[in-house]
Amino acid sequence: MLQLKEKILEEGKILSGQVLKVSSFLNHQIDSDLMMEIGREIAKRFQDAGITKIMTIESSGIAVALAAGAALHKPVLFAKKHLSSNVSGILYQTLVHSFTHGTDYTIVVEREYLSADDRILIVDDFLANGKAPEGLLDLIAQAGAEAAGAAFVIEKGFQEGGSRLRTRGLRVESLAVIDKMDQDGILFRD
Ligand code: 5GP
Repeated sequence: MLQLKEKILEEGKILSGQVLKVSSFLNHQIDSDLMMEIGREIAKRFQDAGITKIMTIESSGIAVALAAGAALHKPVLFAKKHLSSNVSGILYQTLVHSFTHGTDYTIVVEREYLSADDRILIVDDFLANGKAPEGLLDLIAQAGAEAAGAAFVIEKGFQEGGSRLRTRGLRVESLAVIDKMDQDGILFRD
């Protein structure tokens, strides 16, 4: 997606530890026009996949998932990281290792929102080591639902997440794949 790649080149900042900061349009402030375009692009790629629901993890995946959900006219279910009075009933839960924080956290969804009839599209902002989507795949499997694919705004192709997901047979679509980033700049996969 050319528009996205140009935005990354213009506004992305490379931090230590191979982290790309895109807080000006994706992770803190959101470029709403670009985000809706991202949603339409994800929808285009998965429009014939029989998706019944989009799934992501709070919080940075929600905007992307909503844009895709609006374009596909499907509901968005986000796994929660915190148990609160808003989360009740019987849960599916699993443990996820955070790439950016280096810690483990539990994600949950209420069982009533995920069923064996669902064909799920996983959506997230970044694909790095793939622990977040693997956590969602675990919740989907617990419900007996099916994963139809996964879509990411930015895949860091030099980390193992993409190959881990593709090796298990999942269809993965990333709108911008970065093969290399260092002080000389950012190199995208064609
Ligand atoms: P994974 O589970 O694939 O290892 O990491 C996915 C999560 O880590 C993403 O949802 C995102 O929040 C965060 N993340 C991973 N790499 C980056 C990065 O380079 N930049 C930013 N802003 N977030 C990242």
